[in-house]
Amino acid sequence: MIRITDKGARRWRGGHPWIFRSDLADVPNDIEPGALTVVATRKGRRLGRSAWSDHAQLALRRMPLTADEPDEDGWLRLLNAAIERRDPTQPCTRLVNGDADGLPGLIVDRFGTGIGFQTVTQAAERFQSTTLAALKARFDPKVVALRNDTRSRAFEGMEAVKRLMVGDDARVEVEVDGLRWVYDLMEGQKTGGYHDQLENQRAAARMAQGEALDCCSYEGGFALRLARAGCEVTALDSSAPALERLNGHAVRNALEIETVEGNAFDVLRAYDREGRRFDTVILDPPPFARARKAIPAARRAYKELNLRALKILRPGGLLVTCSCSAHVSGVDYERIVADAAVDAKRWARVVDRRGAPKDHPTLLLAPETDYLKALFVEVD
Ligand code: SAH
Repeated sequence: MIRITDKGARRWRGGHPWIFRSDLADVPNDIEPGALTVVATRKGRRLGRSAWSDHAQLALRRMPLTADEPDEDGWLRLLNAAIERRDPTQPCTRLVNGDADGLPGLIVDRFGTGIGFQTVTQAAERFQSTTLAALKARFDPKVVALRNDTRSRAFEGMEAVKRLMVGDDARVEVEVDGLRWVYDLMEGQKTGGYHDQLENQRAAARMAQGEALDCCSYEGGFALRLARAGCEVTALDSSAPALERLNGHAVRNALEIETVEGNAFDVLRAYDREGRRFDTVILDPPPFARARKAIPAARRAYKELNLRALKILRPGGLLVTCSCSAHVSGVDYERIVADAAVDAKRWARVVDRRGAPKDHPTLLLAPETDYLKALFVEVD
């Protein structure tokens, strides 16, 4: 049992699932890293259970476990419950989304017959083989990649590694929305690719028209859907391997997409100077604010990028602008885009506000888990 300070207990009772190291009052010597421990007040009054890390600033992450459930049984119960909540007919789905599914640090993504997963807390690491065995039993996957090549593992005192756990070719082919995709579960970003924009890509394809610029296109989730919807698409990204895979996807689906390798800030500025204009612009940059102290710089970067996008949109055009920074709220982000519209002297109508899809649940009492914003704006 770990006891926490009065301040920590107030935070716990206020509902926030994370307790910081500075709020620990008493930790027994024999408690294993990654244990799913009982948490109590300083006086020993039981509060509930949490995943324990002996290294991270986030020392305790609350889990919805019963009082006496053995650790491994509890982990498996929550894992199965998370999977049961997903739609089994969707070949590309996030099966487990960390804290929101009650499994701190565990991310599992399904890519058709393949699975990419990450264990970024000591608890998730401790139950890695339990998790892998359960996934194998349920999905019989042809490929499983462990994508622990993430910087956040350093916070837990764990090394960054990636490994193919099942199969010997990391590529899987999947059909989604009538389009054929090849995901490389070892070389793709994160767990091999992103599923969080899927619904937003579909919504964008329904609304987009004319000449479209997919800025920060990655492997083409927006670009391909827009091209199939009849847009003339230019895909821009700073990553050559991502564009190479995008080109592969275009060829495989008999779609024509122009690709441009470059820095979005520079390319958009050049387009403005040359007078190149678009009817649709998608902005889906990486998280500019990974930490709280990066927020002011992130705001400036977001504003600048949105300003440049607004400048190259034709009247009547559509801007789909996204932020995946957990530290920038939806309200904040709208303010930033509004400031850009003021500077660009454009009339801007918000026609849709979207976030992450159902398979990326967030925690009501941990607003920082609600990271993805997608604002659909019509510009005159
Ligand atoms: N829109 C994609 C996901 C984008 S992820 C989808 O829906 O699947 C963010 C992408 O931005 C990455 O591919 C990364 O290579 C790219 N990127 C990062 N910084 C960039 C920059 N300054 N200019 C252009 N692309 C950038």
